[in-house]
Amino acid sequence: MNSTSVSRYARQEILPEIGADGQRKLAASTVFIVGCGALGGFQAELLARAGVGRLQMADRDLVEWHNLHRQILFQESDAASNVSKAEAAARRLREINSAITVESLAVDVTPRNAESLFADADIVLDATDNFETRYLLNDVCIKLRKPWVYAGVIGTVGMVMPVLPDLNGPCLRCLIPSPPQPGTMPTCDTAGVLNSAVGVIASLQATIAVRILLGTPPAEISLFQANVWNMSFDHVRVQRDEQCPCCALGKFEFLDARQVSGTTSLCGRNSVQVNPPQPVQLDFEALRKRLERAGSVSSSGLLIRFKADEGEMVIFPDGRAIVTNTTDAARAKTFYARYIGI
Ligand SMILES: [Zn+2]
Repeated sequence: MNSTSVSRYARQEILPEIGADGQRKLAASTVFIVGCGALGGFQAELLARAGVGRLQMADRDLVEWHNLHRQILFQESDAASNVSKAEAAARRLREINSAITVESLAVDVTPRNAESLFADADIVLDATDNFETRYLLNDVCIKLRKPWVYAGVIGTVGMVMPVLPDLNGPCLRCLIPSPPQPGTMPTCDTAGVLNSAVGVIASLQATIAVRILLGTPPAEISLFQANVWNMSFDHVRVQRDEQCPCCALGKFEFLDARQVSGTTSLCGRNSVQVNPPQPVQLDFEALRKRLERAGSVSSSGLLIRFKADEGEMVIFPDGRAIVTNTTDAARAKTFYARYIGI
């Protein structure tokens, strides 16, 4: 650690909870943040400033104007150019702290790739916007015995719970045995979200992460809940369920599904994500030449944008595409198949 970095963290090292040893531990740590949006942006900024040595992130989506009120890593120029969140987040985090390593991928975290993505992480942080991914995180982290921190925010309310497999703590499925049925829960689209509620919950996640990385995790596992607007805060102790299919019986149903659904409607978007039927790494140059014969093609950063008479889409290097201006999954799949053909 050079003299610049020592002075940079001076006000943090002076804390008895951290100290010079703690700072060294943070510098040697790897955190994986699943999602670069609202929760993920706050978490990543706090951890980058705190000097966590390696931040890994994944996000499948693009920056849009309606993200800016709560997704603090993004600015107007990112929304105007509609870049991937992964790319915009990495750029901003490197400006904040050039001494750490930032690895940010524009991918969907799925049963196919989650285990390899999290392989190096000391802890995984939930910054997703859907239960399908959270149950997958739970399976993978229990299987790999890695700590992770669940969180969710909707409206003015948020909640946080750490999952600590090494301490035999309860997991997400001990708390909520199965994901809620699609369409039964409010979303950011239907209920809105207060930016300060995101800040409070992400700050708690980052604090729990730092404590776990320093080897001083919370002694009791609680589900912490806050209504930021009413200033009401409470926590409920969560017990391990001895019949829990995941942490007690070792059944990883969400990971073992290995089946990635063909399409996903994206939260807050008039868009459908289409997944390739098998893992693929696209030859972007060849694809670009092919698409230029069929419509208009442009690039921003690591993406290809394609527009034809019957629709438009943004194509990622991992073969995914986001078909915009539709919620019709069948139409999106047809459009994808016609032009990407995989
Ligand atoms: Zn469990």
